[in-house]
Amino acid sequence: MDNFIVSARKYRPSTFKSVVGQASITTTLKNAIKSNHLAQAYLFCGPRGVGKTTCARIFAKTINCINLDDNTEPCNTCESCNSFNENRSYNIHELDAASNNSVEDIRNLIEQVRIPPQVGKYSIYIIDEVHMLSSQAFNAFLKTLEEPPAHAIFILATTEKHKIIPTILSRCQIFDFNRIRIDDTVEYLEYISKNENITYEIEGLNIIAQKADGAMRDALSIFDQVVSFSGSEITYQKVIDNLNVLDYDYYFRIVDSFLKNNISDNLLIFNEIIDKGFDAHHFINGLSEHLRNLLVSRDNSTLQLLEVGAVIRERYKEQANICSPDFIFEALQISNKCDISYRLSKNKRLHVELALIELCNITTEKKKPDLVESKNREKEVFPKAEKPKETKKDSSSNVSRDNTVKKHQPSIQIGKPSEFGSFSIKEKLTQTQVSNHNVKKAESKSDENEVVMNNNFTQEDLVAAWTKFSDTTSDRPRVFNTLTSKKPQLGQNTTVSFVVENKAQKNMMDEIRNELLGNLKRLLQNTNIKLQLTMNESKSEGNKLYTTEDRFKHLLSKNENLALLKQEFNLDIE
Ligand SMILES: [Zn+2]
Repeated sequence: MDNFIVSARKYRPSTFKSVVGQASITTTLKNAIKSNHLAQAYLFCGPRGVGKTTCARIFAKTINCINLDDNTEPCNTCESCNSFNENRSYNIHELDAASNNSVEDIRNLIEQVRIPPQVGKYSIYIIDEVHMLSSQAFNAFLKTLEEPPAHAIFILATTEKHKIIPTILSRCQIFDFNRIRIDDTVEYLEYISKNENITYEIEGLNIIAQKADGAMRDALSIFDQVVSFSGSEITYQKVIDNLNVLDYDYYFRIVDSFLKNNISDNLLIFNEIIDKGFDAHHFINGLSEHLRNLLVSRDNSTLQLLEVGAVIRERYKEQANICSPDFIFEALQISNKCDISYRLSKNKRLHVELALIELCNITTEKKKPDLVESKNREKEVFPKAEKPKETKKDSSSNVSRDNTVKKHQPSIQIGKPSEFGSFSIKEKLTQTQVSNHNVKKAESKSDENEVVMNNNFTQEDLVAAWTKFSDTTSDRPRVFNTLTSKKPQLGQNTTVSFVVENKAQKNMMDEIRNELLGNLKRLLQNTNIKLQLTMNESKSEGNKLYTTEDRFKHLLSKNENLALLKQEFNLDIE
């Protein structure tokens, strides 16, 4: 281990075969070489660290190799290959456009392009980060790219394809490099570990691959970092300690406690995480990721989106099976909401704790809130736990929970004790209870502040709420008149029907639909309310005419001369 060479350098692939995770690209390049259909300019696009420059170098080596093997791979023994491998080949020229982006730099390159190679057939010019070239440099380069000498091949590499001007794009054969899949990265790290006599736990390598986020170069340097920290033994625990990664286990435990509505456990786990020095925001992001993973684990077809090792995958499947989709959706919304508003919150810890409490309450049975009482309270602190069943209340656990909270967060006040005491804790929710529990989805998913309410209400309540909202629209006469022209009717499944007289009214109702629904839901404490508009088809004489156009048409039907009048005087309907 003393002379451990940086893996990124030592294990840089020297053949197409050893390039990880870009099989379709290497195959295409090899075919081009085999059939001698070489383009004069290539553009390699893709995220950093996925093998663009490596592929360019192998490509350069391969087209100059004098005895390619049957698989169109360089022999790595001929003089040309050796000179490439020892970085002394004159047939390859690399320009890093990030630091050499002036016209002068490009002119120097163009000068070189004219000179044919002394040995080998082709000179290869690799321009890395080509999007960094100044526009004058681009223009200077364009001419050479249009009519390059036969021996020159350009490989332009960029992480930002959209910044390349179309005239360049159109002259290049474009290859899009993918992020390297976690499985592929892990496999390669395994190969290196075996070669270096390093023992490893596959879950540890998996964490390294995840942290690298699709870039092999990063994976190798993280791997080196872990090896220098933990010696010739890579364990899951050592990796998460070294990389400051939050253990999966925390998330599994925390979701378990959501399902059991166990607030105290939850706050304790969160406290443990904070004590370990993890950032609360980092934790919330990880929680969202975990919930997302649970979601994709529910379905075999999306299971492939789960980029974790086999052991963890089984755990995900197991936990996903006891979570209903509704639970996961709602939990995702809550954690996402917490993430978005995190920066704005003054007390970050409390902010996360409130979200955790909300998450614990998802599967609590929802009680009908007292309409009268809730009408007086526009905003509930914890709407979902508003009226827990007395029988569900476990007084002993309430006491202990209060104590633990106080013990562990002495500096933080989480609401008044009375608010705290109103949470119901259900000790055990069986699997079926959890999955059968129908968490009603809010109609508007886009409203991230929406909480699910399921209050029963009567026709009278509806009319009262409708009137209350109508009153707020008195500064918009058309809206006000329409809303007050008829009474809404409460139908099946909290559907509110309302009759409109004409298209104009319908359009206007559609415009205020969200506003109206939002108010009705809030006032009636029920987020399932739907609005159904029906047009009054029978256009009887007594119909009210709302738009001026309608009125004009109505008058026109009585006196055709009106049209003539309108035309003669070039009148507009006002
Ligand atoms: Zn060779």
